[in-house]
Amino acid sequence: MSHPSPSAPRPGGDLAGAASVAVEDLHKSYGSLEVLKGISLTVAAGQVVCLIGPSGSGKSTLLRCVNLLETPQKGRITIGDVEVTDPEADVDRLRRHVGMVFQQFNLFPHLSVLENCTVAQVKVLKREKAEAERIARANLERVGLAEKADGYPDQLSGGQQQRVAIARALSMDPSLMLFDEPTSALDPETVGDVLAIMRSLAAEGMTMLVVTHEMEFARDVADRVVFMDGGVVVEEGPAAEVIGSPREARTRAFLSRVL
Ligand code: ADP
Ligand code: MG
Repeated sequence: MSHPSPSAPRPGGDLAGAASVAVEDLHKSYGSLEVLKGISLTVAAGQVVCLIGPSGSGKSTLLRCVNLLETPQKGRITIGDVEVTDPEADVDRLRRHVGMVFQQFNLFPHLSVLENCTVAQVKVLKREKAEAERIARANLERVGLAEKADGYPDQLSGGQQQRVAIARALSMDPSLMLFDEPTSALDPETVGDVLAIMRSLAAEGMTMLVVTHEMEFARDVADRVVFMDGGVVVEEGPAAEVIGSPREARTRAFLSRVL
């Protein structure tokens, strides 16, 4: 699927500028356990990269490094033109531009749907409450949940909660969205709604790095697919090639288990 080039006007036009991501020779260990053994990958601005691979291969750790939730021992991560692994980097400022959606939605149970989408805007971005609410309502509308604004997370299905989590992330005007198995914890009948929103974000030109086991989504939406195993990138390329005719035996073995 093709996306608007970074310089082209984007439909909607309401996203903060989409940023590219470059990861170079990233190494991350926990004690003596080396989890990432020299990962390199890039996501061009406005493109979608799906990261696939078996459990324990380091996919979540990689996303957490990109989001600065973990500090790698070696290697560089650049978002847009900013090297985020530079010890001088303003981590808080950079993190604001990266939206993250987790397998477990991590909504605040004691806050309404609307408040879940405004609290960080007010605290972190210092927006006026009224402005934050206007933006939150627009993003809830975008994920099809405008009428749930005054409800609470436990009144929503898993799929609806995940859509709120996406609206919350979008309300921060991210230049980049990271998704870590966003549909893995959902009932099968709600998976499609969440994937549909991710498809529309991709079509609007959001830069997205998506860990997923949804191979149909990856094949349809991803510009590139990266297959990781054992802390290394085993194979990467256009989605149709990596999923449709993988070169490496390890990729074929993995796909035969998930397809
Ligand atoms: P994936 O997301 O591909 O399933 P993870 O990145 O979650 O893989 O984990 C990769 C490896 O790193 C696993 O062996 C996991 O047990 C280990 N690991 C992840 N986080 C930590 C941590 N905070 N401390 C120690 N080991 C960890
Ligand atoms: Mg994981």
